[in-house]
Amino acid sequence: MVISLLTGIWWFIRGIGLLVASVFALLKGLRLTFTKFFSRPVTIQYPEKKREVSPRWRGIHYFERDCVACGLCVAICPSQCIRLVAVEQDDGERYPETYEINTVRCIYCGMCAEACPVNAIKLGRNYEFVDYQREALVLDKERLLANAPEEV
Ligand code: SF4
Ligand code: SF4
Repeated sequence: MVISLLTGIWWFIRGIGLLVASVFALLKGLRLTFTKFFSRPVTIQYPEKKREVSPRWRGIHYFERDCVACGLCVAICPSQCIRLVAVEQDDGERYPETYEINTVRCIYCGMCAEACPVNAIKLGRNYEFVDYQREALVLDKERLLANAPEEV
């Protein structure tokens, strides 16, 4: 009799403890909800509004000036996604007859830009580059020149 009474009291106290803990957790959650409800939203209405990327961001490539077809970017590219066909003119100057970057394979490491002796290839700030076809994601010379930002 006494044991069952003590067991009942123990379960009653435990139940009260659980109830207090639940109410406390609920109030804590509500406090967080109300704090966030009145704070500035972190979401933005993309694509109407665009998020500013980090100064160190490496986006889509572009040609800043004429490439001299030295092949250093091809040699250093860890993804081997640059295709260069260099041609030598009568005066000994080289130019890229074909220059393509397969952006599907590119890992945007920026080593091509680091290696370029004439600062021809750069990685810009543009991150809006999508398509349904893989072929459309290969940048050729014309597209690399067209990708150059206006302030360059
Ligand atoms: S960013 Fe890196 S992976 Fe992409 S083309 Fe340049 S060197 Fe290759
Ligand atoms: S982009 Fe620069 S490193 Fe690459 S082939 Fe042209 S000049 Fe050489």
